[in-house]
Amino acid sequence: MSHFDSVRVVLVNSTHPGNIGGAARAIKNMGLSRLYLVAPKDFPADRAVWRAASAVDVLDNAIVVDSLDEAIAGCGLVVGTSARERRIPWPLLNPRECGERVWREAAHHDVAVVFGREDRGLTNEELQKCNYHVHIPSNPEYSSLNLAAAVQVLCYEVRMASLSAAQSESPLLPDWDMPPARAEDLELYFQHLEQALVDLGFHDRANPRQTMTRLRRLYGRIRLDEMELSILRGVLTSIQNAVHRMQCASQKKPDS
Ligand code: SAH
Repeated sequence: MSHFDSVRVVLVNSTHPGNIGGAARAIKNMGLSRLYLVAPKDFPADRAVWRAASAVDVLDNAIVVDSLDEAIAGCGLVVGTSARERRIPWPLLNPRECGERVWREAAHHDVAVVFGREDRGLTNEELQKCNYHVHIPSNPEYSSLNLAAAVQVLCYEVRMASLSAAQSESPLLPDWDMPPARAEDLELYFQHLEQALVDLGFHDRANPRQTMTRLRRLYGRIRLDEMELSILRGVLTSIQNAVHRMQCASQKKPDS
């Protein structure tokens, strides 16, 4: 299988079928093929077919799912796109770095590049599921590209990275003994972590502040592998068991 087959372009809640068709065309023009549509407003649609031109096969093979979690399941790298700066800074790539990283990691595992809604982009919650964010350095006075145009730019960078791969230096994942943790396992880990922090009395769901956001960002930077994630889950379970034992012991203590 070629690296290209490991790259998913994910469009979240697209409103205009024309943009879906335009994205399909951009994907095929640049040698990619996999399109995931998260709850599109209007699909299948004639306008999508019309805009796709000779990339109708990409539309025909598009995978329609209900949630972003489903679209990124199995991916070892998830990159989210953003037309503007967010409140919490996240590890950022420029489009060139994004193309290189996507291309090189696609040799090892599935990779997703996630695009947002035409009117309001990706939610903070969706962006926090991503290892990196990428912003196309557009005019700050008018920074938002048309959705299909943004897909075009980032797919072009993946193609450019593929063309210069032969000259590229050290691999991004040098001789690692374990595959990276998958998106769905990370999601389970964060749920487990949040529960353990609640059990410990460290975290209050009613007053969450930005604890989980900052922890997600921390782990996203580290790029945990499968084994590390499973060790951390074991640690959480031990902590929860210890808290539980202490609670039971203090309830049983006789009144003196
Ligand atoms: N008003 C929205 C713009 C959404 S544009 C907002 O401010 O977030 C629709 C989608 O196109 C975005 O979610 C993103 O996936 C992509 N996009 C548009 N302009 C972009 C840019 N400059 N850099 C990266 N992605 C961009």
